[in-house]
Amino acid sequence: MNTLLPTSIVGSLPKPSWLAEPERLWSPWQLEGAALTEGKQDALRTAVHEQERRGIDIVSDGEQTRQHFVTTFIEHLDGVDLERKETVRIRDRYDAAVPTVVGAVSRRQPVFVEDAAFLRAQTDRPIKWALPGPMTMIDTLSDQHYKSREKLAWEFATILNEEARELEAAGVDIIQFDEPAFTVFHDEVQDWGVAALERAAEGLRAETAVHICYGYGIEANNKWKETLGAEWRQYEQSFPLLQQSSIDIVSLECIHSHVPLDLVELIRGKKVMLGAIDVATETVETPEEVAEVLRRALEFVDADKLIPSSNCGMAPLARGAALDKLSALSAGADIVRAELAGAAVPAGR
Ligand SMILES: [Zn+2]
Repeated sequence: MNTLLPTSIVGSLPKPSWLAEPERLWSPWQLEGAALTEGKQDALRTAVHEQERRGIDIVSDGEQTRQHFVTTFIEHLDGVDLERKETVRIRDRYDAAVPTVVGAVSRRQPVFVEDAAFLRAQTDRPIKWALPGPMTMIDTLSDQHYKSREKLAWEFATILNEEARELEAAGVDIIQFDEPAFTVFHDEVQDWGVAALERAAEGLRAETAVHICYGYGIEANNKWKETLGAEWRQYEQSFPLLQQSSIDIVSLECIHSHVPLDLVELIRGKKVMLGAIDVATETVETPEEVAEVLRRALEFVDADKLIPSSNCGMAPLARGAALDKLSALSAGADIVRAELAGAAVPAGR
């Protein structure tokens, strides 16, 4: 990839209303059987087309084929009881009915590999595939078998590594692990979270990324954010550990958040996927707003390591707003690319 400041999105895009009810999480499918399979593929095609025509350089599937970024993966594993939904507190913040682990977990067959191969066939651009991270998985289920978050996380890390290797073989260029739980459980991040993440990413030739955020722009998260004070310093705990880790790219939340940008210095040397699009509001950023965030970030990350992105997934947003935000992201990146190109030309004549 030769483009400077290649743009990308964290993961999800809103689904079309004929596929799933819009603007909600865990939205039920509107189709069944073969029609559902065809509908998911059509939605994925549309997501790719919109990303390309709006100037997104690293293309994702928009998570059009999954109901939820964590539970869809868990529900495909053995040892999980799909019927038995138990209500647990997620990220120490909100309650949700989630699948229950009732026995030893294993992956009987690939979960997303066919979908990834389908995405690969739709575009010549580099593609990125998101998987849930081990800690976020154990924080999005009910465990009635292992009774140990650490032990189950290690089991998941092994399973994720199998899946990641097959995604790589299907032509995925960047494999991303979503770990929003890293902003909440700091002791566990230090004790085993980063180690489990590295286990999930072990031996991959594809680039690896970890996405750490403050969650979707849903009410429970927005309320929690109000309690975090004027400066959000949660990244201060995880960034030094990630800087030392084998992970290539760190994806973080930035625009309209209270994350002090100088914390990015703590991951110097890594590629930085920087959130320059807010997913908690449907107000579309202006290109200049996006550019300003990127300019400020360039104080702490080298230009050849900056990947302009969104703060988080866009699944809960109105579809039109989310797509317009893609255009704003690439227009903002264009402004800064032009400035960097201008700066590289010697002044005078
Ligand atoms: Zn996120």
